[in-house]
Amino acid sequence: MSKCMKDTFGRNIDYLRISITQRCNLACTYCMPKEISEEKEDVLTYDEIIELVEIFAQSGIRKIKLTGGEPLVRKNVSVLVKNLLKVKGIEEVTLTTNGILLDAQVEDLYAAGIRHINVSLDTLDEEIYHRITGQYGVSRVWKGILHALSLGMHIKINLVAVKERTRKEIIELVNLAKEYPLHVRFIELMPIGMGKQQKRLEEEVVRSWIKDAYGELKEVHKSLGNGPCSYYGFQGYIGFISALSHEFCANCSRLRLTADGFLKPCLQYSYGCDLKEPLKKHDVEEVRHRIANMVYHKPKSHAFLSEDHKDKETKPMSKIGG
Ligand code: SAM
Ligand code: SF4
Repeated sequence: MSKCMKDTFGRNIDYLRISITQRCNLACTYCMPKEISEEKEDVLTYDEIIELVEIFAQSGIRKIKLTGGEPLVRKNVSVLVKNLLKVKGIEEVTLTTNGILLDAQVEDLYAAGIRHINVSLDTLDEEIYHRITGQYGVSRVWKGILHALSLGMHIKINLVAVKERTRKEIIELVNLAKEYPLHVRFIELMPIGMGKQQKRLEEEVVRSWIKDAYGELKEVHKSLGNGPCSYYGFQGYIGFISALSHEFCANCSRLRLTADGFLKPCLQYSYGCDLKEPLKKHDVEEVRHRIANMVYHKPKSHAFLSEDHKDKETKPMSKIGG
């Protein structure tokens, strides 16, 4: 019988987000301080990641998402994907990317077994994209998305809802779900790292703009990962991932592994444990014990809204693996 991991609140923990690098080829204003990309990395090797995932899979992890930093800046990601999918118990490996390098790598990723990709794209306006990320990239990202769709991949476009986004930009992005078989999701800005210096664009404002353009959003029960999802009968769905205003911690099934091998039970808390040291000593029992301990200590919910909470994560999102 296959194992499963239940935490103290009865949640089934079967999903692991693995950051494979802290580096990035962009510097989004709400995420990445520019100097971070220059830091020397001490990351888990692909062999070490596979070794760890074998232990995670024996404990009950079934789904993996690769993230970063920007995962596609690391070489041969498709080789890692292929080997992850060979691990007994792992059913799905997906990826979240800014899409800059997607066009060049998508065929290899498809051949390796990736079928679902989240692409971060905050605007379709090149100048505004440049202001957000420090690069001109909309046409490159879009080329990668079209390439992925042509292979039959499932694409979710994620955009962080920051106050500066205009009605026009939002409707242009929503329109993509009308014109193409892809989903568009609005990610509520989290006050983490650089995100603390920015202001949120409220979900209600986004919904009202969409309503003005297309009429009332119809709720469907289908979930697009986290949180509820709404749709219009477009080709794709429109989703809202609002961790603060519409908390979904009760359904959280995830753990996070940072690029340097630190296991976190929750994005927003700084605590966790190092898996690299016992892995280097080939101490499988200790790795297993530390994983179980983190599942045991997985908090009931984040505490973004609590003022006196002492254990808040202070690192930027790119270092945690958002
Ligand atoms: N570079 C990849 C990308 O952009 O998709 C993967 C890593 S990125 C840290 C993962 C996700 O975190 C992206 O969708 C990004 O927009 C989101 N993110 C980064 N900072 C955030 C913040 N302060 N609040 C909410 N989402 C954030
Ligand atoms: Fe890089 Fe993704 Fe962070 Fe943007 S959100 S700086 S693309 S890691």
